[in-house]
Amino acid sequence: MGRAFVYVIVGGGVAAGYAAHEFVKRGVSHGELCIISEEPVAPYERPALSKGYLLPEGIELILRTRVKSADVRRKTLLTGTGETISYKYLIVATGARALRLEEFGVNGSDAANVCYLRDLADADRLVNVMQSCPGGNAVVIGGGYIGMECAASLVINKLNVTMVFPDAHCMARLFTPKIASYYEEFYQCKGVKFVKGTVLTSFDFNSDGTVTAVNLKNGIKLPADIVVVGIRIRPNTTLFEGQLTMEKGGIKVNAKMQSSNSSVFAIGDVAAFPIKLVGETRRLEHVDAARKSARHAVAAIMEPEKTGEIDYLPFFYSRVFTLSWQFYGDNAGEVIHFGDFYGNTFGAYWIHKGHLVGCFLEGGTKEQYEAIARAIRVKPRIEDLRRASEARFGICIVFEAQTSN
Ligand SMILES: Cc1cc2nc3c(=O)[nH]c(=O)nc-3n(C[C@H](O)[C@H](O)[C@H](O)COP(=O)(O)OP(=O)(O)OC[C@H]3O[C@@H](n4cnc5c(N)ncnc54)[C@H](O)[C@@H]3O)c2cc1C
Repeated sequence: MGRAFVYVIVGGGVAAGYAAHEFVKRGVSHGELCIISEEPVAPYERPALSKGYLLPEGIELILRTRVKSADVRRKTLLTGTGETISYKYLIVATGARALRLEEFGVNGSDAANVCYLRDLADADRLVNVMQSCPGGNAVVIGGGYIGMECAASLVINKLNVTMVFPDAHCMARLFTPKIASYYEEFYQCKGVKFVKGTVLTSFDFNSDGTVTAVNLKNGIKLPADIVVVGIRIRPNTTLFEGQLTMEKGGIKVNAKMQSSNSSVFAIGDVAAFPIKLVGETRRLEHVDAARKSARHAVAAIMEPEKTGEIDYLPFFYSRVFTLSWQFYGDNAGEVIHFGDFYGNTFGAYWIHKGHLVGCFLEGGTKEQYEAIARAIRVKPRIEDLRRASEARFGICIVFEAQTSN
């Protein structure tokens, strides 16, 4: 037995939600669209999980159902319940999964007080464990997005927090050492401790299998009532391996979000798509990319003649404590810091081959964020690096560069 739909979205996260919204906006007919998600709830915004719905209309929502296999030649999916779902167009929005400690040779992920954070179930679990050890010791493994945001939440909830990561500073993929030191000092003032340049090697457990301590490669043992692990993610591509072309660990798509099979589109964290600004294909693990790639894929499916190539400006952001930053573009080339690193507003420009290609800004106003986004889109030529580095208020450089370009 099976069902057939014109459009099927596999995955029920951010990108799936925005794709569904776009289908509805563009007038999908009742019963034409189906979403299959292994989660028990309709698509929702993930960033809210670490900080603070999209409602289906006429959409067949198949929840708590994992797609077990896909046959892109036959245009069918097989679900965990044994149903075959066929499609005319498939949108792959399977996102990514959190890497587990076992993939780094450390056992213990299944212990009751070891937490990950990717979906609603993880968030509920983390809150339960956190509430079970008031004033206790929390060890956060990983210094990226999840690690930083969880550490802030844990310390706000009055736990003693220690962050452990192998890099020289936090957010190593994006922050410069100077930017990172601002955030690390801010976190330290809030009570967070940092153990950098080392990794977790094993846990100590009590008799019921609960973790009691974290052992690090540098010999340090940290007592732990809760462990939160945020050590990167891996795109969920397994269903399509050997069937679709892969790149950068994800499903390779063209500028219409279309994969190597013309009936299959990929969006969100799982998709590697062309970024015009940098002239290469990249996979972005950010919510804005999920939203915009979703809308673009639906437009390309429903109105192919009217839909051009995606021209996405990479945009990342985070909010922790009273801090809030945004980043646009690419963090390649030479860095010029600006602003007041002892105050609230500062940032950095990245200048690559004489052009402004990226900008990070902490504590900006809405207008300033919009201005840097506009400037990065233009990629203005920066003639005078020395002047740029001397500027007290870097944002004016962007305005000047924009107007002189
Ligand atoms: C806690 C948290 C905080 C974040 N904060 C930020 C932030 O501040 N800023 C930012 O830019 N980004 C942030 N991100 C990243 C952002 O949320 C992701 O980029 C975004 O969720 C990607 O959307 P997606 O739809 O591709 O994947 P997801 O939202 O992960 O959705 C994937 C969906 O596919 C389902 N699925 C997977 N495989 C199958 C299968 N075989 N069958 C059925 N269903 C399947 C999953 O269950 C899930 O519902 C955060 C992420 C997390 C986890």
